[in-house]
Amino acid sequence: MVQLANCCLLTRKAEEDSEQVSKQQGRMQQHSTTLPWFTVVYGLLAACVALPPDAIVQLGLHIDGIWRTWLGSEGLHFVEYHMRRTIATLITHGVLVLIYALGVWRIERASRPWEERVKRAITAEFRHIDKVSVTTGFSRVTVTDSWILQTNIYLLDIALQSDVDLSLVATRDVPKLNSLERRQMVRIRVTSLNPHCHTFDMILDAEHYQTLSDKLSARIRNSRNLIIRQSLSDQFLAIFSQRVQANPRYAGRHSQLEEDDVCVGCNLAQPNVKIVRRTAIEGAEGDCFCRPMFCLDCIGKWFVSTQDQRRPETWLSGTANCPTCRTAFTVNDLSLVDAQ
Ligand SMILES: [Zn+2]
Ligand SMILES: [Zn+2]
Repeated sequence: MVQLANCCLLTRKAEEDSEQVSKQQGRMQQHSTTLPWFTVVYGLLAACVALPPDAIVQLGLHIDGIWRTWLGSEGLHFVEYHMRRTIATLITHGVLVLIYALGVWRIERASRPWEERVKRAITAEFRHIDKVSVTTGFSRVTVTDSWILQTNIYLLDIALQSDVDLSLVATRDVPKLNSLERRQMVRIRVTSLNPHCHTFDMILDAEHYQTLSDKLSARIRNSRNLIIRQSLSDQFLAIFSQRVQANPRYAGRHSQLEEDDVCVGCNLAQPNVKIVRRTAIEGAEGDCFCRPMFCLDCIGKWFVSTQDQRRPETWLSGTANCPTCRTAFTVNDLSLVDAQ
C-alpha cells in the first residue's frame, strides 16, 4: 500500500511538473529577449578587445597592452615577441568565446527554472530500485514510475508516462551474434501529448517487451496486430510452472504463511513454493529447511538463470541451488505450499 501511495504521489508530482512546463512558457518568452541583448553587448565588447579602435589602444585595453609584461620588447626580440603575441591572441580569443558560452548557459538556465525541478524529479526516480532498464546495443531504455528515458550515444529522450501514447509500429527478425538463431526486435513509438516534447522510437529485443510493458502505466497499442514471439525463457517458465503444479503439494510445518509474507524476489506475490528433496542428486545430500520465500515465478526465473544459457534443451533436467541454504534441487523437488 505504501508503495502504491508513493507511486501515486510521484505520478502527481510528475503531472505537476508537466503543468509547470506549460505555465513557464510565458516566462521563457520574457527571458528570450535577454539572450540577443547579451549577444549584442558582449559582441561589441569582444570586438573592442579583438579589433580595438584607436581610443581603446590608447587606454592599453588591447591584446599587446594586456599581455605587455609577458610579451617583452619587440625592438629587442622581434621573433620571440611575435611568437608570444600569436599565442596571447589565441588564448585571449579562446577566453572570449568561453565567457560567451558560459554567459549563454547561465541565461538559458535562468530562463527555465522548471527544468531544475524536472531534472530533480527524474534523478530521484532513477535512483529507485524498482525502475526497469533494458539495454539494446548502444541505447538504453529506462522506465521509472513516472518517466520513460532513452539514452544513446548522442541523444537523451524523455517522456512523462502519464503524457504519452505508446504504439507498437514494427517488428523485425535479426540474426543473433554467433548463432544460427534469429531474435525479434520491436519498435515502439512514444508520442507525447505535450507539443513541446518530440516523438521518439524505442527499439528493443522482443524478450524485454513484457518486462517493459509491465512497468508502463499506459498500454502499448498494437493496432497493426503484430505478433510478438514469446522468449525462450518465457516458454520454459510456462512448462516449469506446469511441472511444479503436477508435483505433490507441501502441507508441512512451513505451510502456515503469515499474511504479510512476500516473495523476496518480486516483493509482490506471496511465497508459495517449498523445496522438498525427492530426487537423488549426485554429490548433494540433505534437505532444505528454509521456509517458503519465493513465488513460483521467481523461483522459476532463479532456476533458469543458473542453467547453461547455450543449452536450453538441458534446462528442465538441470539442478539449481536453494538461494538461501544452497541445497541442490531439481524441478521435481518443488512443491506448491498447501496453505491451511
Ligand atoms: Zn516473486
Ligand atoms: Zn534452502
